[in-house]
Parts: sequence; structure tokens; C-alpha cells
Amino acid sequence: MPGDSSCLICRKQAGKEVAPPGGYLYEGRYFAICHAPRDIGTPGTMIIESRRHFLDFGEMKSVEGADLTGLLKKLFPAIKQTTQAERVYSLAMMDGVPHFHLWLVPWKKDEPLRGVTYLASEHRLSSTEEVEQTVRSVKRAFERPQGS
Ligand SMILES: [Zn+2]
Repeated sequence: MPGDSSCLICRKQAGKEVAPPGGYLYEGRYFAICHAPRDIGTPGTMIIESRRHFLDFGEMKSVEGADLTGLLKKLFPAIKQTTQAERVYSLAMMDGVPHFHLWLVPWKKDEPLRGVTYLASEHRLSSTEEVEQTVRSVKRAFERPQGS
């Protein structure tokens, strides 16, 4: 699939940028899933990237939207099981890179900050080992057969 060579996410999916920590845990026809860089998100912060270069939901094809819904139904419980998160925040801003990507951020019950205050706060650095272990756990949970 030809990507936009000026786009960080297109280059990343083509293996022309530093691989995400633990690698892509899922690479499908329409979307790929990886962990956030360890200095940006807490362990379990995942990013769903479209395979096709487009900006936002308005440019998403129906078949991509249907596929995304199926992935989210599996990924939300996988993140919750792995991180013991009470909520999974989801946001798509495309502020830095104009290529569709959806952030999924686990929020735990013992976290004093909530909502946008939590999202805007400084997150502690995670070790590479901690992130890679989290990616393996999320991948196992994501791939586990589930009821519909
Ligand atoms: Zn792109």
C-alpha cells in the first residue's frame, strides 16, 4: 500500500522509522495497533493507526469504520484486563501527524486526576521492559477468542 513519504505514520508502518516499543501487536488490512512511545504514555497506552493515509472519521470508509469497531470491542477489554484500568480514554486529535490514529489511554481507579486533567498531566517514564511486557499481555488478551 503506497503511503505518503512525508507522513511519520506512513513511514513508521513501512518500517522506515523507529519501531514502536514491542512492535506492532496487530497489523490488519485497515488498521495497525501498537503501544505508545514509552516516554509519552503510561504502560497500556495503545494507538490504533489507519493503514490508509487519511485525516479523520469524516474521510473513513464504511468498511474501515466497521473494522475499527470490531477492533475496539476486543482492544478495550484487553487493555482493561492487562492494566486493571477502570476506564479506557479514547481520543483522536491528529494534531501532530495528519494521519488517522486513535489513542487509547488506560485510567486506573487509584489515579487522583481524571479526564482531560489526567491526559494533560506528566506521565512517568516506563521502562522498555515494562512496556514490552505490557504489549505481550495486551496481545495475548486481544487474540483470545471472545463472545460477541
Ligand atoms: Zn500517512
